[in-house]
Amino acid sequence: RQVNEAVLAHDGPLYADVGGDVDVSFEFSPPKTDKAEENLWQSIATLQPLSPRFLSVTYGAGGSTRDRTHATVARIARETDVPAAAHLTCVEATREELDAIAQEYWAAGVRHIVALRGDAPAGADGYAPHPGGYENAAALVAGLRRLHPFEISVAAYPECHPDSIDAAADLDNLKRKIDAGANRAITQFFFEPDTFFRYRDAAAAAGITAEIVPGIMPIASVAGVMRMAAMCQTDVPAWLTRLFEGLDDRPAARQLVAATVAAELCRKLYAGGVKQFHFYTMNKAELSFAICHLLGVRAGGAAQAKVAA
Ligand code: FAD
Repeated sequence: RQVNEAVLAHDGPLYADVGGDVDVSFEFSPPKTDKAEENLWQSIATLQPLSPRFLSVTYGAGGSTRDRTHATVARIARETDVPAAAHLTCVEATREELDAIAQEYWAAGVRHIVALRGDAPAGADGYAPHPGGYENAAALVAGLRRLHPFEISVAAYPECHPDSIDAAADLDNLKRKIDAGANRAITQFFFEPDTFFRYRDAAAAAGITAEIVPGIMPIASVAGVMRMAAMCQTDVPAWLTRLFEGLDDRPAARQLVAATVAAELCRKLYAGGVKQFHFYTMNKAELSFAICHLLGVRAGGAAQAKVAA
């Protein structure tokens, strides 16, 4: 019943009326094994024909995936015709080390960095900047800007970052990142369209004019999403967990439900004027592909989808 009310409250266009003007990007994590690498490249092969704006690759906690992130991003830059974006964090690295990594990216033809502070290592008592490092994401953005004319994305938190005193301080922080030279913000995942709309309004009121792209998390695993949501203090509505009840042994039904839930979120965001979506693919292409398909994003690009329609 709650789901129906939510749908009615935010109803927008039918799927057939969405599309032709939607842009997407996809996020992957660097593979740890040969099998995972094969899976990643299959996922990229599935999603690349949708002409995404960029494919981004995460950076493991404390720089643990530094080499794997670099290898994956460089291969995307080399072997696909989609711009590659490298995530980079300030954790446990000096400014010189981070500048050197960024220089290597530039030399490899990578022009887009997702600039992040990162999290404290496991067991540490809160985040502490490296003594010779960039203090936070805003400082990293400024550092990158001094090096090369990178395209720079930063993180944004519609439900407030756990380290922030309050939502206003969190928005001030986002504004500092944009003022330091970031081109766009990509949000942490969330499940209610209003969460995004309220945040977008508050950002506009705070003078933030850069685009804020919603980060969409298709629910490949409920347990996994619950764990991540607890860490980043994202609300998982009760209606959402109820939708997945009884599906533990039904992977196909679970996929259909997951695609429906994420596509509904995107459809309602589209109704509120959102035209760009960033997908946390978890290296599983099929879900993101299905959601994009519902949004009218097809192989050959938006223009072709429009013509076909
Ligand atoms: P910042 O924007 O620097 O700030 C984090 C918090 O600290 C904010 O609440 C801010 O208000 C506060 N703060 C910062 N500076 C100050 C200051 N001077 N005084 C007071 N308060 C301050 N993590 C990874 O490890 N690897 C990844 O690849 C990765 N990719 C991500 C991609 C996206 C799209 C998102 C949304 C998150 C990603 N993260 C990743 C998680 C991110 O690293 C964490 O959320 C981290 O805790 C904060 O990083 P940030 O860049 O938002 O930090």
